[in-house]
Amino acid sequence: MPVRITNFCNNCGVCEIICPYNAIYKGGSNWRKIQNRYFVYCDEGLEYDMFWSKEHYYVVPDKCTECIGKYPEPICMAACTRNCCIIDESNRESEDHLIAKKEYLESLSGNRE
Ligand code: SF4
Ligand code: SF4
Repeated sequence: MPVRITNFCNNCGVCEIICPYNAIYKGGSNWRKIQNRYFVYCDEGLEYDMFWSKEHYYVVPDKCTECIGKYPEPICMAACTRNCCIIDESNRESEDHLIAKKEYLESLSGNRE
């Protein structure tokens, strides 16, 4: 899981607006599928669960690229005034994986959904 949001989030909504892949959703909301699939790009064996939150904004891991190749750093982390967008160090993804995910997401029409 590249970036996750901690429960210090005050639900300001800034990160949701600026995420280039619409990977961030309001707490309690349903996130949108891409091409009818929930996991658009996932290493075999990686378990992505428990990211959904009812209380605060959350990141859909398969739509988060850490902004690689787009911005010099994850733009949500730079913008969050509460410092609650953080890299999940226990679930790091390789640079190659993140780049492949970026290319995959950008190859899809409607990746802003
Ligand atoms: S993670 Fe930060 S920027 Fe995003 S909604 Fe929460 S407080 Fe706002
Ligand atoms: S790191 Fe970039 S792609 Fe990932 S959730 Fe934050 S803004 Fe979106």
